[in-house]
Amino acid sequence: MTTADRDVVQVVYDRLFHRFGPQHWWPAETPFEVVVGAILTQNTAWRNVAKCIEVLRRERLLNLDALSAVPASALAEWIRSSGYYNQKALRLKNFCEHIQSRWMGNLDDFLSQDMESLRAELLSLRGVGPETADSIVLYAAHQPSFVVDAYTHRIFSRHGWIPEQIAYDDLREYFMDRLTPDVKLFQEYHALLVRTGHLHCRRKADCGTCPLHGVSDRH
Ligand code: SF4
Repeated sequence: MTTADRDVVQVVYDRLFHRFGPQHWWPAETPFEVVVGAILTQNTAWRNVAKCIEVLRRERLLNLDALSAVPASALAEWIRSSGYYNQKALRLKNFCEHIQSRWMGNLDDFLSQDMESLRAELLSLRGVGPETADSIVLYAAHQPSFVVDAYTHRIFSRHGWIPEQIAYDDLREYFMDRLTPDVKLFQEYHALLVRTGHLHCRRKADCGTCPLHGVSDRH
């Protein structure tokens, strides 16, 4: 890895932080709420998830025991606005059942295991892919696993820093090899990339006012 390689990752972070400041992401009151949000946000925008979270909060379902006790069919109705709601209800129920049976209902113990074991166990659950698993590891367990998403890929590939075709784990490794494993840094970095994607690096790039404009000779 060249110094320039490592530098680019730092330069991107510095530019984004300078423009946008701290993002205060993930917006959740408890680790369990992070887990619920991470599953609900699969294939949908956060604004749809936020509506569901409010419904679940109103129904006093944002805790493991309460969510474990409701039938999947009722849960599906409460989370309808997140899309794929039947599937997501089953995923949430499956997560709750796993913690109840394997961890005697102790979410803190589950989240406190070492990072690689936690990530592997999350990935073994039905419907939990790498982005969901890393979001839970980073924002609920507060352990330094870098989260990559479609925006991360788009921003870095458009500038030519990573290949167009790159696997999730290779892209995650790209960041983890170049950054010190710092939870706050990883949390902030991911949130800043999401912000950049929302505001500028959409399908049609809006480079003119983007803080990353000119950071490479491609954009
Ligand atoms: S909008 Fe343009 S300058 Fe901004 S990250 Fe995307 S490609 Fe780079």
